[in-house]
Amino acid sequence: MTEHAAANTTRFAPSPTGRLHVGNIRTALHNWMLARKSGGRFLLRIDDTDAARSREEYVDAIRADLDWLGLSPDGEERQSERLSLYDGAFEALKEAGRIYPAYETAQELEVKRKIQLGRGKPPIYDRAALALSDADRGAIEVPGVQPHWRFLLDHDEPITWDDGIRGPQKFDAAQLSDPVIRRADGSWLYMLPSAVDDLEMGITDVLRGEDHVSNTAVQIQMFTALIAAQHQDSQMPRFAHEALLVGKEGKLSKRLGSLGCDAFRERDIEPAAIIALLARLGTSQPVEPIADRDALLESFDLGTFSRAPARFDDTDLARINTAIVHQFDYSDVVDRLPAGMDEAGWHAIRPNLETVSDAGELWRVVTGPIEQPKFSDEDRAFLAQATEALEWSENPWATLTATLKAQTGRKGKALFLPLRQALTGMNHGPDMSELLPLIGKQEARGRLQRAAS
Ligand code: GLU
Repeated sequence: MTEHAAANTTRFAPSPTGRLHVGNIRTALHNWMLARKSGGRFLLRIDDTDAARSREEYVDAIRADLDWLGLSPDGEERQSERLSLYDGAFEALKEAGRIYPAYETAQELEVKRKIQLGRGKPPIYDRAALALSDADRGAIEVPGVQPHWRFLLDHDEPITWDDGIRGPQKFDAAQLSDPVIRRADGSWLYMLPSAVDDLEMGITDVLRGEDHVSNTAVQIQMFTALIAAQHQDSQMPRFAHEALLVGKEGKLSKRLGSLGCDAFRERDIEPAAIIALLARLGTSQPVEPIADRDALLESFDLGTFSRAPARFDDTDLARINTAIVHQFDYSDVVDRLPAGMDEAGWHAIRPNLETVSDAGELWRVVTGPIEQPKFSDEDRAFLAQATEALEWSENPWATLTATLKAQTGRKGKALFLPLRQALTGMNHGPDMSELLPLIGKQEARGRLQRAAS
């Protein structure tokens, strides 16, 4: 394996043809972590060579989502602004004999494919265009007919790499089609610009989904050819391919393909919860509600990534989210809390929250008005006694319940439930010893009185 300087440069390279989904977010996160852990750089590369499908609004949304997740890149490049680099690479590779023109139409290629498959052969491009003489080409290139361009794979050059997740990989170039890299109208397909950028941008580690494994095989030959022709001082990046993210049933799920930051925000899921889950999902390390990114970075290790698909489950996310909300300090959430809610209020209700936005509803228990249930005559008498017994001390709840216990002999549920219902309108909820001081003496007395009447 090639030696690189210790600091990694990684890139996340989405095509702005849609919003980021949870699978993209996971890839972005792992690239961010791989860079950050080594004190390196995490770059965003907008793969917008497909002008017809790329949209500016998606570029903006990608940036905003990364920002919300706290995965801001250290730099950004756009492929649409780098076309002259691709032209340069194209000329250099053509010069080196690694690019050739081809003329087959999509239908012709489809027919070839069907014939090969019918004969039980793999559908590999037959290089018919490579066999054309200059005279043949002259005859084909009547006005209006332009070639598209293929990269010539070297069948004698073995393709191997030590994948950071999958281990040693080996491909036979003869089993791959020479990829089309440029269309007849001059526009670029993904393959070559990506390799050019990875070299130009000094990417040390390409970490992406395993759907790119065969692209890597092809790109390795592109890297070698580009380094020989243009980039003698550059090194090929390392590669790692992570198993795909699947739904909890274990299947590739359509829903996951559209599940993104908007949906998470709507459910009031914290970025920290998404990060904690995705950092470790599909690894041998336990998924835990770790809000501290440094702690996640500390344990980040591609060697722990499994080759089996990672299963994403919404209920895991909700569970992690709740556990993370329970760890938040007042200062982490103060901007998002209902007006008037102070630090003591946050501590009192925090253990009862599933999401931060639940705070509003629970805080109404303190500020009122609350709705009380109907009480039996017996409970009303008990609550009248409680109104009298209410005293303001260090811990008014402990004092109140101790007094009432001694006076009435009530205990357990019979003692606590009517008080809780009268004071909060609820059967369960925050710890009463924390809540009662927040409700305050006047208001608490008023509530007990009202319940007793
Ligand atoms: N734009 C490509 C994609 O989204 C980038 C793949 C890569 O990481 O090289 O699939």
